[in-house]
Amino acid sequence: MTTSNYLAELTWADVADILEREHIVLLPLGSAEAHGPHAPLSTDTIITEAMIRRALPEIEKAGAFPMVLPNVNYGITEYAGAFPGTISLQPETLEAIIYDIGNSLIKYGFKRMFIVNNHFEPEHVQGIYSAAQKISEQGLPVGYLDLTRKKRAALLTAEFKSGDCHAGSYETSIVLAARPGLVKEELLQKMGPLEVSLVSKMSQGFKDFKDIGMEQAYCGFPAAASAEEGNTTLKLLSEMLTDAVSEFLKTSTADKPGAYHRF
Ligand SMILES: [Zn+2]
Repeated sequence: MTTSNYLAELTWADVADILEREHIVLLPLGSAEAHGPHAPLSTDTIITEAMIRRALPEIEKAGAFPMVLPNVNYGITEYAGAFPGTISLQPETLEAIIYDIGNSLIKYGFKRMFIVNNHFEPEHVQGIYSAAQKISEQGLPVGYLDLTRKKRAALLTAEFKSGDCHAGSYETSIVLAARPGLVKEELLQKMGPLEVSLVSKMSQGFKDFKDIGMEQAYCGFPAAASAEEGNTTLKLLSEMLTDAVSEFLKTSTADKPGAYHRF
């Protein structure tokens, strides 16, 4: 019988076997956040799931059995708080959830945890770093692929790099590739390009999509989205994830408590 890569599909005895092998635990983070009138609230979750799914065979080839934890499908989503359905955690809640998951892994002797996230609200990313730091201090090395870093963003689409990227072409394309039935495609052609300088507005202290000019909870150019672009991006994302995990497997062997690994 083939062993599933997903913890939720395994028995405790399967997990005990995995602990005996070279392994890497992946923690998928999602969100319940408004993504325009056309894309689902689970857009970030769908991106995380799809990039992990595509990376699994390659990670296994890199020499470690990848075990995927159940998702954390809530994040810090204050900017989209004006739009119904957006469910936000307080920073300490997000940190506590990730920290508690890490501590459970430590209890059973797991060797490494890698966090995969596609929701980039600054407070959310900060919460991930805080939790990663605390878990690393407990002795479990934690890796995190931060797609907001310049060297990562440089490899992604022009819209992603521009920062005007919320439910635009970048994210909508990935949903079209991974879960096509969930995009309201009939709306796309009516959605003109919207430039709001999202990232610089965030650094100026704006805290609400509506104040930033995102009246429908999107910016960028969703009408330009295609499944083809989505597949190209997912290929890049899964390659970045595989490379980061491979590097983490090498660099975290002589780990010092207190140092999380940022990729
Ligand atoms: Zn998103």
